[in-house]
Amino acid sequence: MNTIRTRFAPSPTGFVHIGSLRTALFAFLFARKNQGHIILRVEDTDQNRKVEGAVENLLKVMKTVGVEFDEGFFLNDAGLAEQKGEFGPYLQSQRLDLYHEHIAKLVEEKKAYYCFCSEQRLEDLRKEQTALKKPPMYDGHCRRLSQDEIDKQMAEFKAAGKNPVVRFAIPTSGQTIIEDLIYGKIVYENQLLDDQVLLKSDGFPTYHLAVVIDDHFMQISHVIRGEEWIPSTPKHILLYQAFGWEAPKFAHLPLTLNPDKSKLSKRQGDVAVEDFLAKGYLPEALINFVAFLGWNPKTEQEIFSLEELINQFDLNKINKSAPIFDVGKLDWMNSVYIKTKSDVELVELLKPYWEKAGVEINKFSNEFLQAVTALEKERLKKLSEIGERTGYYFAAPAVDPKLLVWKKSTSEDAKSKLNELAEFFENLPEEKFSRENLETEVKNFIAAKNYDNGSTLWPMRVALTGLEKSPGPFDAAAVLFIGYGKQEIVKRLKSAAASII
Ligand code: GLU
Repeated sequence: MNTIRTRFAPSPTGFVHIGSLRTALFAFLFARKNQGHIILRVEDTDQNRKVEGAVENLLKVMKTVGVEFDEGFFLNDAGLAEQKGEFGPYLQSQRLDLYHEHIAKLVEEKKAYYCFCSEQRLEDLRKEQTALKKPPMYDGHCRRLSQDEIDKQMAEFKAAGKNPVVRFAIPTSGQTIIEDLIYGKIVYENQLLDDQVLLKSDGFPTYHLAVVIDDHFMQISHVIRGEEWIPSTPKHILLYQAFGWEAPKFAHLPLTLNPDKSKLSKRQGDVAVEDFLAKGYLPEALINFVAFLGWNPKTEQEIFSLEELINQFDLNKINKSAPIFDVGKLDWMNSVYIKTKSDVELVELLKPYWEKAGVEINKFSNEFLQAVTALEKERLKKLSEIGERTGYYFAAPAVDPKLLVWKKSTSEDAKSKLNELAEFFENLPEEKFSRENLETEVKNFIAAKNYDNGSTLWPMRVALTGLEKSPGPFDAAAVLFIGYGKQEIVKRLKSAAASII
């Protein structure tokens, strides 16, 4: 079978970690690049960690960023997760019979065994080993039980309404070798591998048993997942051998770290893809950024559409060293994508953020909103900044009188210039209020009066925006004119002048 089949296999535990998005994206890019399939399988063997609605949330996030699956789970019209595909069910808790059937085979062939050890015994064992500075691992006690002892203990367990766990009888000698597509050859001594629990006492498989059975029956050719699963992989390879199956190829992705080399965790800031989207990172920017977490096209190009990523993606171009999560770079990429949007598109994207900031956008014309957007577009790093950056367009700003004074001037001068400007605009005909005309007219006014630009334009700009840094005075005036007419400009200049005493 030559078809490339890969999968994304999250546990339904809530939000989508940015690291999970990277795993899903790389598996998706690999599948698309190679005309293969990507399967979405949900690994819910840990029923305690299951979160209601997690699959729907995951599907929504993936849809927003453009990562699509060919089999497994899909969102239906009602927004609910639905399964499709010929290798299902794609939810592990619906595959218990398959796991039980296969674990029975392993037990029969003595490749796995029942373990009746109590929690207390295991705890004591761990303590003993830790005290001796040995790695804690199961000591094989139940592996050595005779059939009689097994029968006896089993009867006792059954009478008490309990089930023993099933452990994997890992070979006690030899080596297991991973030929990882990213990390290369990794060798494990079998005697150092723990006799992993495969079936829990609640009848659920552990991740290790389920992942191997599912990857086999779903005909997965390439397992692409995080580096944290490397230590589990020799156990998986040994399970494939125990079942007599061919193992898929493995590609483990290096863990993404914070700039201080610590693990990305919720405590240090945002790690949920949902949070990044809510802050106004555009899906295409987020995908571009996440693609660069470990992958590099080995050229200067940094801006890639999803289509370009698919064309260029190559597992061989993934770095072994841990990528650093640099929010500055994400901000930069986002600003690049924001600039590629038309003003009309951007206004629609910004509306929810204005609303969140308390702006009653219905009161304003699209022409005005577009003019505000056109001005801010160059500076905007994320959509959520729009509220604080543009507040003065929607309500007259509170102006600090001290800020109105140009550094080489005096407050008396600022006051009189503001009053003169107010009068000037009052008398300027409406048709002169375009951005270009305003600049010409005001500059003529300055020249005629023999004023200098700084002491005139500084107070004008601050009076209109209230800010130390903002778009220039002609830009701000032209936009305010579109929104309110010239009276708003006059009003702001007069009230700024009046604030200086
Ligand atoms: N369910 C595992 C997780 O949550 C998947 C690991 C794998 O891809 O094998 O990450």
